[in-house]
Amino acid sequence: MKIAELFYSLQWEGSLVGVPSVFIRTSGCNLRCIWCDTPYTSWQPEGTELTLPQILDEVKAHPARHVVVTGGEPMIAPEIIALTQRLRALRLHITIETAGTVFQPVACDLMSISPKLANSTPQGPWAAQHERLRIQPRVLKELMERYDYQLKFVVERPEDMEEVRSLVDALAADRGRVILMPEGIDAEVLRQRGGWLADICKQEGFRFSPRLHIDLWGNRRGV
Ligand code: SF4
Repeated sequence: MKIAELFYSLQWEGSLVGVPSVFIRTSGCNLRCIWCDTPYTSWQPEGTELTLPQILDEVKAHPARHVVVTGGEPMIAPEIIALTQRLRALRLHITIETAGTVFQPVACDLMSISPKLANSTPQGPWAAQHERLRIQPRVLKELMERYDYQLKFVVERPEDMEEVRSLVDALAADRGRVILMPEGIDAEVLRQRGGWLADICKQEGFRFSPRLHIDLWGNRRGV
């Protein structure tokens, strides 16, 4: 499978923020978010072909009990089911980070679903495919029913909340599992957007997530 990067760090977002974890980042995505923070997995996908044994050897080289399979879109990676089954056999806690547009019966302990809001849609030739695919209610429902989940939304402007609320209501999602995260790859932008977003979380009962790695290391790969 094509792997963009494989590294040991702290989970930097969501309900497991701060937990030491090995990250397996698959390359390739069916969406093209305008603000994608890993364009080397989507707009210009890069990576190295690794076999499952090579991936598992690298995972085992680190002391973590948690592994995060992320992307790109890991649910479209060939061998994703086999990879997660092999990780489960190692008794690791598995988080899958997905945009929730494709279902696969993977082994997973926390399905971290990040449906992409209208703020993600790019201009140009990818716009139509992105807009058609970005919200797949049946896939979202199935992921939420079959797995322990969190729903993570990337919020850029207060106006984005209308779409968040309507999706949360349509999915009958538990607000305690809905996590709002400011969009941005710069600590100052995150601080500004985080201010008003934290207020919204307090008023409406959503959870707030920082982007810990930006604060600790800046917008760098492999940390
Ligand atoms: S779904 Fe994720 S990897 Fe794909 S384009 Fe959007 S932000 Fe990038």
